[in-house]
Amino acid sequence: MTSDLQRTQSAALQRSGILDGYDWTLQLRTRRRSLGLTIKPGGHIVIAVPPDAPTDKVLKFIEAKRHWIKTNVAKSTANKATPRVLSLADGKEEDVFFLGNAYRLRLNTASTSTSIDPRMFGGIQYLNMPRIRAHGERGRSLISWYQREGTRWAQDRAAPWLDRLRLSRNAPSIQTRDLGTRRWGVYRRKGHRVELHWPLFQLPDHLVEYVLVHELIHATRPPGKPHGPEWQARMTEAIPYWRLMKKELNQRGPSLWIGHVAPHDEN
Ligand SMILES: [Zn+2]
Repeated sequence: MTSDLQRTQSAALQRSGILDGYDWTLQLRTRRRSLGLTIKPGGHIVIAVPPDAPTDKVLKFIEAKRHWIKTNVAKSTANKATPRVLSLADGKEEDVFFLGNAYRLRLNTASTSTSIDPRMFGGIQYLNMPRIRAHGERGRSLISWYQREGTRWAQDRAAPWLDRLRLSRNAPSIQTRDLGTRRWGVYRRKGHRVELHWPLFQLPDHLVEYVLVHELIHATRPPGKPHGPEWQARMTEAIPYWRLMKKELNQRGPSLWIGHVAPHDEN
């Protein structure tokens, strides 16, 4: 029954043309009592409809919200940053970032080692990478470089914090790895381990440090909820402006390189 109504109303909305050019879904919500409208990141419109709302009322509601929809969809699509894509192609020079510094990536034929070594030449920092034949391997090799260097940096930077946060006697282990698309860091109670997401290391050190300290404070196991008042108080004591950093991270995070390599002809 409910899905029939949903279909009927969706079809009526479609015919009305009010939302032409928009991406939307109409959802019947059995527990709702009033009509609702949300814009998801990227501009998708969700119309929440209580079970007893007549179709003409739904259409009127959306008609009345037309201006609001237009403004807010524009806002949410303007903020939509897309992850960076690297070429990693022969002869193509491009910059990659580590702790906010740019490195000119150079595929080096002479190098046979599987390591990537940064060096300075003519005022430019180069990141020499062995010219691995398989194109997909190049991306993976760069990612392992971030993981290795990131782990090293985080372990060094954590040392003074472990003392300050009184974790030194029972220090958590610290690792950099791939944490998927939703997290910059995680503290795993089981194993007493802090894990950081490798793309983070493209950002300036104050942002990486914010994530590191965020997780180290979870590792102190403050009472209360994970991001509750106790955790927040310890966070503010450690980094007074952490909320600004969180905001900056949210703004800059979505456009980082997360492993995408442009398709190219392999021979
Ligand atoms: Zn957290």
